[in-house]
Amino acid sequence: MADHNGICTKEQISAVLTRLAEIRRKIAAACEAADRPADSVRLMAVTKTVDPVLINAAVDEGVTLLGENRVQEFLSKRDAYRPQAEVQFIGHLQTNKVKQIIDKVTLIHSVDSLHLAEAISRAAEAKGIVMPVLLEVNIGGELSKSGAAPDEIPALLKAVQPLAGIRVDGLMTIPPPAADETEQNAVFARMKRLYDRLSQEAPMHVLSMGMSGDYEAAVRNGATVVRIGSALFGPRMYPQTAV
Ligand SMILES: *Cc1c(COP(=O)(O)O)cnc(C)c1O
Repeated sequence: MADHNGICTKEQISAVLTRLAEIRRKIAAACEAADRPADSVRLMAVTKTVDPVLINAAVDEGVTLLGENRVQEFLSKRDAYRPQAEVQFIGHLQTNKVKQIIDKVTLIHSVDSLHLAEAISRAAEAKGIVMPVLLEVNIGGELSKSGAAPDEIPALLKAVQPLAGIRVDGLMTIPPPAADETEQNAVFARMKRLYDRLSQEAPMHVLSMGMSGDYEAAVRNGATVVRIGSALFGPRMYPQTAV
């Protein structure tokens, strides 16, 4: 990760703003193509490995929704974020870390087991809150590692609904890499059908799908939030581990 002292060049910041304008233009075009209002999709900036100075540059341009993957990294950076930033958790969440984030995020996108849902519900009840969550769907089957299988999702929804500290607001997916746009469309259309079907059993309003490589297809197929990292901030630089 870049250091936290705010050593980012003007060029890095202006590159982020240029990419942001391009992403917004493409989202608007995809909305138009799908006959959706432009404000029906929210852009989330995915922050892993990114210096808070660059994140704040995006927030200042109106990208007020941030997506966090790692509990420790989030806790070390959150004090540097602008106060108007809204943070949601999108990464794999271990049950023993739930307590550390429960009152610091507005939505958890990655619930894929009853075990995790129960831990979130208990932690939320202890804080006197109800935590909105999304059920994570492994829409591509074997190839992607996280999420519950599509045919397990209805039962998971039923099992989670009685938990007092949780409310299911929708679905999230990370699809396997697609060969082309036809494949992207097929996967996202399948997610949308599952979402529409489950919406009849529980009121849902969030369909979280689409990342840097496929967000236009996701928007055309009904995504309400797209999670974008590298297309906004540039390639991720992972710190080198000492040998
Ligand atoms: C990293 C990540 C993203 C963003 O990925 P990009 O391809 O860089 O846009 C979106 N969602 C999740 C869950 C992620 O971990």
